[in-house]
Amino acid sequence: MIPNREDLKLKRRTAFVTDERFFWHHAGTPVCGCDPADLNPETGNYFQATKHFENAETKRRFRNLVDACGLLQYLDTTTVRRREASDEELTLFHTAAYVKLVESMTSGGDAGDFAQFGRGSFNIAKLAAGSGIEAVNALLAPSPQIDNAYVLCRPPGHHAERDRGMGFCVFNNVAIAAKHAQQKHNKRVAIVDFDVHHGNGTQQAFYDDDQVLFISIHEDSLYPQGSGCTDERGEGKGIHDTINIPLPAGSGVGAYKYSFETIISPALKAFDADLLLVSCGFDASFSDPLGHMMLTSECFGQMAMMLLDSVKVPSCFFHEGGYSEELVPFCGLRVTEALCGLEASRVVDPGDEEANGYGYQALQSWQKQIIDDIYTSSAKPCIDKHPPLNL
Ligand SMILES: [Zn+2]
Repeated sequence: MIPNREDLKLKRRTAFVTDERFFWHHAGTPVCGCDPADLNPETGNYFQATKHFENAETKRRFRNLVDACGLLQYLDTTTVRRREASDEELTLFHTAAYVKLVESMTSGGDAGDFAQFGRGSFNIAKLAAGSGIEAVNALLAPSPQIDNAYVLCRPPGHHAERDRGMGFCVFNNVAIAAKHAQQKHNKRVAIVDFDVHHGNGTQQAFYDDDQVLFISIHEDSLYPQGSGCTDERGEGKGIHDTINIPLPAGSGVGAYKYSFETIISPALKAFDADLLLVSCGFDASFSDPLGHMMLTSECFGQMAMMLLDSVKVPSCFFHEGGYSEELVPFCGLRVTEALCGLEASRVVDPGDEEANGYGYQALQSWQKQIIDDIYTSSAKPCIDKHPPLNL
């Protein structure tokens, strides 16, 4: 029987923004610098071609699960217009020369470091950035039709820097959307990035900006290596408005929850932004091939809920990484359910029970020490800089 909206008890109006064209983006040849036919006995290369980690399947399966379980029909799929970002919008963050470079690669190419793309991806990347801008416009409209949004787009964006693509990212969708919210809507923005990799491009965009709070929680020294250390805290008037939480490999539900409770939620409350943007990657899941963390899909839903409870402002989640075909759909569903305000899911994640029982899921003493040190060095100065009005 098809459930109705009342049965599902949706408390918030959520836009689900996606487009078939996002799934047509091609991320180029496979990983780690290995070409598809890298066979050379002289040099010892015996690499059999694989599917690229950043392919359409994880995201299609996410969208399909939201549909199959009956939720999609109650999400708003029409309010947010999908359209390509203009050159003027892309250059809110990127250099004009970089935009021209990507445009010139009509047959595809490499936008920088691990940022390959195929024919047509310039337009698809512009569609991702433009749809994010439109989600922000819809959320900040005088009489908004939606409370929050999930933008299920490709290519992802958070690694893309001002003048180069990086880590499967071509244009920085979140940074462009935040710049747009600042300049067209005069809003202060908080950005939380819980992709397992550091959001280096987004950090670069707002490093000296005291109108944007950027918090990245990620695996320590994964990608880009040496980026996202605790001593990166902003500069100039933006000092302490960047918070990095590099967790040791193997961190699980306990370490993430403790980080959210002690650092992310208090900093968000203190900064008191008008708009929350989230770089939503699922590669900290226990079965991800590119990360070494242990999160369950249930934990992703709880993290999303904690963010929404911390700041009662319009919120937009942007899809970033996440490469487990099996688990990304369940992680994505849990976050979408959280956006809708659903307390309990009707959908069983077959992997949750076993993963919850893994050793080291609980907060470990050495993890607590690291997180407490980050609170002292990074979060407390931010909170002191923006004392909450209601304290
Ligand atoms: Zn990632």
